[in-house]
Amino acid sequence: MPPVESPAAGKPVVRTDLPPEEFRAAMHRAADLVADYLEHVGEYPVLPAVAPGDVRARLPASPPLEGEPVDALLADYKRLIEPNVTHWNHPGFFAYFAITGSGAGILGETLAAGLNVNHMLWKSGPAPTELEETTTDWLRQMMDLPPAFRGHINDTASMSTLLAIAAARHRATKGRSRADGLAGGQPMTVYASDQVHSSIDKACIALGLGLAHLRRVPVDTAFRMQPGALEAMIQADRHTGHLPIAVVATAGTTSTTAVDPIRAVAAVAEREGLWLHADAAYAGAAAICPEYRTVLDGLELADSIVVNPHKWLMTPVDCSVLFLREPGVLREAFTLTPEYLKSSEVGVTNLMDYGPQLGRRFRSLKLWFVIRSYGVEGLRALIRSHCALAREFAGWVEGEPGFELCEPVPFSTVCFRAVTPGTLEEQNALNERLLLAINAAGPVFLVHTKLNGRVVIRLAIGNARTRRKHVALAWELIRGAAANLRGEG
Ligand code: PLP
Repeated sequence: MPPVESPAAGKPVVRTDLPPEEFRAAMHRAADLVADYLEHVGEYPVLPAVAPGDVRARLPASPPLEGEPVDALLADYKRLIEPNVTHWNHPGFFAYFAITGSGAGILGETLAAGLNVNHMLWKSGPAPTELEETTTDWLRQMMDLPPAFRGHINDTASMSTLLAIAAARHRATKGRSRADGLAGGQPMTVYASDQVHSSIDKACIALGLGLAHLRRVPVDTAFRMQPGALEAMIQADRHTGHLPIAVVATAGTTSTTAVDPIRAVAAVAEREGLWLHADAAYAGAAAICPEYRTVLDGLELADSIVVNPHKWLMTPVDCSVLFLREPGVLREAFTLTPEYLKSSEVGVTNLMDYGPQLGRRFRSLKLWFVIRSYGVEGLRALIRSHCALAREFAGWVEGEPGFELCEPVPFSTVCFRAVTPGTLEEQNALNERLLLAINAAGPVFLVHTKLNGRVVIRLAIGNARTRRKHVALAWELIRGAAANLRGEG
């Protein structure tokens, strides 16, 4: 039994935690719940049949005054939560960038929760600090990046990118932005293609640079940044008193997975003395396969690179690795040690120095488990199989009258649309209706993007459980829904 205080008159019992035996039994049941879920997730429709507010309406408006038995918690999880999530672990999940919470990753996440360690300092978490250094260095080797890069783990690519631009700001202002703030200084500019992820916009907002100072560099017909246009924009900004600080090259854009010409962009950044950040949140994972490392040529020339193991490296959300060529710049930008955080170890990494956050979750445990459980070859095999399935799907689209493949397929995401004689508006309306019909069927979930005004459907393969039969089913549903909409069904 856990220690309890005897109930003095009128005083509530103090229960320190779940009794150990009850906790152990509940953990076993939770293991069964998760294992059953993963085994049967494909039987759910990917999107739950809920309308906004449905779940809230079934939840008590106020918290319980007295503690409830753990059985009630697990029963409500099974009844209210599990059926009403969008099933990201479903093999028919083809939306956004599909992801995988693998068994090994879930084990790591669970054990990390048990430790509840907060490795803000080496002293407050020696093993988590050193495991984070080790696993990120393993990933660096897997991606064939030079040893100079040092990695650490953030929650998301959005935070990793924000930190990279904060480092760029620090370097460009020689530390003035940290000491004096931005008031009175030259307006700073950041450059990215017009296909860049919205996290770059948000970084500019959060860092006080202002959205107006995020320059959208035009792209070529394959949605890749034009280095010549980049250079011209930087020079124009210098003439008008701006301080260009950073370029963001994307390796795998969100819409089409286009890869900016990183080597040429790096040459401009070098000539102009700008920080080069590479957003490889999704496609960086492909760099672990030597043949895709070539597609990502020039990645090694960046000052910073973000890659999300929680996107395409089978690691449960959240886990984003930021690699820095000169980690000292980010450390200088943020290091600050109040008296209560001083510790005597020398030559150790205190991860609180690498950003505004103090506390941090033990995320490297799940990444360590994932890499060890699959092995590098196992991860490569999955990525290659996803890319092969995407190419096969693209072939089906190309061979089908009334459909068109909209973009090349460098990785595992396919952009396509139904075509019909008519105006752009009519074509877009057809594809919007098509997407609604496909997703209403249940076994698959896809989303759209817009390319030069055209509504385009994306099929993004990235779940470890996705097999050829799931992609074939998606294609069957797409063809059937299109035939119905055209009145041929
Ligand atoms: N960068 C790219 C290219 C993305 O596609 C995404 C999300 O899909 C992000 C950044 C943001 O990722 P996160 O959700 O980890 O912030």
